Amino acid sequence: LTTFTDEAKIAFDTLMERTGSLVTPSLRLGVTGLSRAGKTVFITSLVHNLTQGGRMPLFEAHATGRIARAYLQPQPDDAVPRFQYEDHLAALVKDRIWPDSTRAISELRLTIEYQSASSWGRMLSAGKLSIDIVDYPGEWLLDLPLLGKTYAEFSRDSFAIANETAHLGFAENWLREAADIDALAPADEMTAQRLARSFTDYLRAGKSDEQALSTLPPGRFLMPGDLEGSPALTFAPLPDLPEGSFKNGSLAAMMERRYESYKTHVVKPFFREHIARLDRQIVLVDAMQAINAGGAAVRDLERALTEILACFRAGRSNLLTGLIQKRIGRILIAATKADHLHHESHNRLEAIVRRLVDRAAKNADISGAEIDVLAMAAVRATREATVNQNGDTLPVIVGTPLKGEVIDGDVFDGETETAIFPGDLPQDTQAIFEQPEFSPQDRAREAPIRFVRFRPPLIKADLDGIHLSLPHIRLDRAMQFLLGDRLA
Ligand code: GDP
Repeated sequence: LTTFTDEAKIAFDTLMERTGSLVTPSLRLGVTGLSRAGKTVFITSLVHNLTQGGRMPLFEAHATGRIARAYLQPQPDDAVPRFQYEDHLAALVKDRIWPDSTRAISELRLTIEYQSASSWGRMLSAGKLSIDIVDYPGEWLLDLPLLGKTYAEFSRDSFAIANETAHLGFAENWLREAADIDALAPADEMTAQRLARSFTDYLRAGKSDEQALSTLPPGRFLMPGDLEGSPALTFAPLPDLPEGSFKNGSLAAMMERRYESYKTHVVKPFFREHIARLDRQIVLVDAMQAINAGGAAVRDLERALTEILACFRAGRSNLLTGLIQKRIGRILIAATKADHLHHESHNRLEAIVRRLVDRAAKNADISGAEIDVLAMAAVRATREATVNQNGDTLPVIVGTPLKGEVIDGDVFDGETETAIFPGDLPQDTQAIFEQPEFSPQDRAREAPIRFVRFRPPLIKADLDGIHLSLPHIRLDRAMQFLLGDRLA
């Protein structure tokens, strides 16, 4: 039997537990972007710089010495995999290789102890903020429009896009297979698997390193996470679907059921359980890869960005009704890998991204959130220098090209440093949208910038053997926008 005092104690403990979690305020920061945009590298560098006290003059709370310490803590969501920070850091710093990229959702809690800037704040606040960093593939956001489409509409739209010139080359195989299918024939698992496979191959081919087509759902076909091979992903669009409902037991009926189940069991829970809880969001874009592939890829990136931003307009989109109530307060769209350019081009890169975002944000009809744009490098793999060539001084970048990179016929061994002239971005941002398409072979010669992949930088350890923090470009500005006001 519990006595009155026991019960009072239990009630008191429960209250303390509850208020205890209120005492440490938390902020959920979403980190997204299409595959290889730089999410893993960004989170690793952000955490390393914060926990190791990196060089961050533009991050006010740090620059003024108000951050006492920052450390990792167990994350609040037990069902979400942990972001493997230690492994990624070891890859970058010890092995000097780029870490494994994001393939599914993961999370990490970073707690910052700080002193409030005002004396009033110092009295009121506990001076602690927990940041729950949520890393997830941007491809998953591209599924939102599916919530508003029937299976027949999804099929019709997929065929229309596949027949566009930019897609036709990749889609041929799937289109040929699909053309022989009778949608109303009896359902057959092998046919469903075959079609799903060739449809997935088409979506993935457009997204390879060489190509930069980026906008096609279903997102899990590109980034399946732990759903690889499950029936919810074993469907594909079918041609020439009749109006109305499909015959029972037909292939079309089976595909339709799976499509609906994908929406109900995959897409909706993702938005409800993860996107709905975010306070801040950073969207990383690899604008340079798109610029180097030509105008079609840049326009494609703009389309992807429009669809991504539309996911954050809670309260305005019918598709999100009932899934998301809360609004994201701040969104940062950051072009990554700016260390591939000389700093004279950083502002131009930022102007191009601003242009992309302005149009995308208008098309996505997003308002209410504060939006900013930035060109940055979460990890700076190069340094700048100048070389004299025929009496001219040229700005160059110096770094160690990855093993196997070929520059002017020389194959690099991953150990040798070299200087390259990276090229200039055009001043006229519109020109980027109107470029012709550059084939992978022609890019080195014709694209405006020269894109060489470098190894991560060599980071020295101090006397205690602790590695100095990762060098970056404007990562501190990103932190200021995303976190600064919460550490005021
Ligand atoms: P994710 O798929 O979004 O997680 O992308 P990653 O973070 O794995 O980055 C993909 C690749 O882009 C890396 O393997 C690096 O080659 C490159 N990368 C990402 N961030 C940077 C950066 O700040 N500087 C440089 N030089 N390369 C980067």
